[in-house]
Amino acid sequence: MATLMRAARLHEPGQPLRIDSVPRPKPRPDDVLVQVKSCGVIPNMNAIFSGTLWNQLPPLPASVGLDAAGVIAEVGENVTELEVGQRVYVNPWLACGQCAYCRADEPTLCGSAAFQGYFGFFPDSLRTLARYPFGGFSEYLTAAPQRLVILPDKVTFDQAARFGYIGTSFAALRGGNVGAGTWLAINGMTGTLGVGATLLGLGMGATRIIGFGRNRAVLDQLKALAPDRIRTLALGDHPIAEWMREQTDGLGTDVLVDCSARAAAASTTADALNGLKRGGTAINIGALSEPLPIQPMRFMTGRIAFRGSNWFTTGEGQLMADMAGTGVLDLSHLEPHLYPLEGVNDALDAIRARLGGFVNIVVNPDR
Ligand SMILES: [Zn+2]
Repeated sequence: MATLMRAARLHEPGQPLRIDSVPRPKPRPDDVLVQVKSCGVIPNMNAIFSGTLWNQLPPLPASVGLDAAGVIAEVGENVTELEVGQRVYVNPWLACGQCAYCRADEPTLCGSAAFQGYFGFFPDSLRTLARYPFGGFSEYLTAAPQRLVILPDKVTFDQAARFGYIGTSFAALRGGNVGAGTWLAINGMTGTLGVGATLLGLGMGATRIIGFGRNRAVLDQLKALAPDRIRTLALGDHPIAEWMREQTDGLGTDVLVDCSARAAAASTTADALNGLKRGGTAINIGALSEPLPIQPMRFMTGRIAFRGSNWFTTGEGQLMADMAGTGVLDLSHLEPHLYPLEGVNDALDAIRARLGGFVNIVVNPDR
């Protein structure tokens, strides 16, 4: 008889998850089995599980949960570089490995890309999802070794369960060449992506980090991280571009990371683009969906770039883990709010309150 495990499954879009008893998966020869210790809960989850967005939900009932961290419990017979007992974060990004983008080493552009335990981006993604049908709100899941980030002892499972959003910010900062001396602006600084971008900006050497958002209490908390380097503005207090230039000797910032959420007003982003330095780069990672009016001539004469960035590679995840393990990236500021597996629907309710980006809502399936 198969060994059973508990898994939170979505049976009907928009309805609470149910804790079901299902067979514990066996890893295929090239995969590993991970015992999940922590899985993150993120702001977009309720919207995705509602089934009303553009994304492809896996066939229901589906085991769900996006950002899992845990311990390798079993390895397939062909796995030689990893062993039972290692602490890992599972990058849930699934790519087909075969399409033109995958063959060009661009898995985050894959035409069948999907998030394990969450959704597919395209109709063909359902094939990709079918290969890894367990999410992080389960006691166990299977994963390919290429998707595992080895966690230093200092990085807790609960911190690693936040890697998806921190990694998204990390890839964006790398895309903008943030490094020693960069002047960095962050739109939506108080949210999950914005707090990650701030902590990373500090670690990566940005000297001026100027951010705007709505939550004044979180803005104060952010400023207190490094009062000499961080400046904050509550939206509505002052025109954004003018304030950005005031903080940067009249020049503007080198980089703008735009974390505006799907339903945010594009006008805030448009204002912030005017606070970029000539030669600067703006990067959207918040899925802002309202069309954005820009003046191409200004982008031409000032050699300004506006681009998107989605997720991150497992290699970038490993860099981030090492930064966190050595204190370059300080994750101790995150505030863990922990729920047992049976409390997964309470955790999903809690994320609706938008408590701000320091709050780290995590489900612990082993409790
Ligand atoms: Zn592909």
